Amino acid sequence: MTTTESVPAPASPRAAAGQPLLTVDGLGVEFRLRDTTVRAVGDLSLTVRAGELLAIVGESGCGKSVLAHALLGLLPANATTTGHAVLHEPDSEPVDLITCGQRHLARRVRGRRVGLVPQSPATALNPVRTGRRLLSETLRAHGRDRADTEQLAVDVGLDPADLDRYPHELSGGMAQRLVTALALAPDPSLLIADEPTTGLDRPLVDHTLDLLRRRCDNGSAVVLITHDLAAAQRVAETVAVMYASRIVEHRDTDQLFAAPAHPYASALLDALPDRAFRAVPGDPPMLTALPPGCAFAPRCPRRTDTCADRPEPTPVAGGGTVACHHPIPTGATP
Ligand code: SF4
Repeated sequence: MTTTESVPAPASPRAAAGQPLLTVDGLGVEFRLRDTTVRAVGDLSLTVRAGELLAIVGESGCGKSVLAHALLGLLPANATTTGHAVLHEPDSEPVDLITCGQRHLARRVRGRRVGLVPQSPATALNPVRTGRRLLSETLRAHGRDRADTEQLAVDVGLDPADLDRYPHELSGGMAQRLVTALALAPDPSLLIADEPTTGLDRPLVDHTLDLLRRRCDNGSAVVLITHDLAAAQRVAETVAVMYASRIVEHRDTDQLFAAPAHPYASALLDALPDRAFRAVPGDPPMLTALPPGCAFAPRCPRRTDTCADRPEPTPVAGGGTVACHHPIPTGATP
């Protein structure tokens, strides 16, 4: 019998709320192409704390998903990753996800301590297994009760009757919910959810977001990668805005939405229907042809000659960082 109660989390140790769970330091990702090298993530640093839901937002192609794949060692062979991303958990040695090697990631980390809700669920599901078998086998593999299978389906908004379908018989929204359930089954300390609400209608979007939010209540953390700013505002404690491979603003959610400091963050918020409903002017730069200084300069109403030098992240009043030579003062318009 299934209920609206969530599957209880197993007794795996969790860090105290507020303790660093993941510290990313100077992370960079480059792809070698035939004629050139593309920097998809550049010199990125951030900390995710136990109990935190961090949303990473930005336009398509800014590097959000590459960051997620770098943390899980899922990049293709032509990628080079530099820097560090250290996972800290109670009762475990810290592990650097960038340098620990594929063998360790596959055996000890990926899908266990760090889970991924992938952006393309159809390609992530074994086509010859029903949802029920996929989910029950995953629960059993991680020491959990197979009897929780239907409850976990209910938790993600999936009708248990649909568990007997094969992946090709699922709609995009059903497949999305199934991969979310599979990512939650091992009860990872850190869940990276890459556009987890794709294909869902609004009530299921809110259901999924609230489910992710509740994961943080037991000391887990969630990194939500999304282009949906309303989703970020609904559930995230902190928001990192990415532009052209870098984080340009990283703040407390309420502060960012009340008074964005970076002109790009301000333009993104202006695109919301309940604000100016005005598209960000211009187009994002090609990652193969980034300008030498600030990558937002060609689209920025505040640019000056100083912006020919790349701005580094600097502390902003009230906490967080902004990478801009001329951040927007609180209460001003860009
Ligand atoms: S550094 Fe200059 S060009 Fe870049 S966002 Fe700030 S003001 Fe605009």
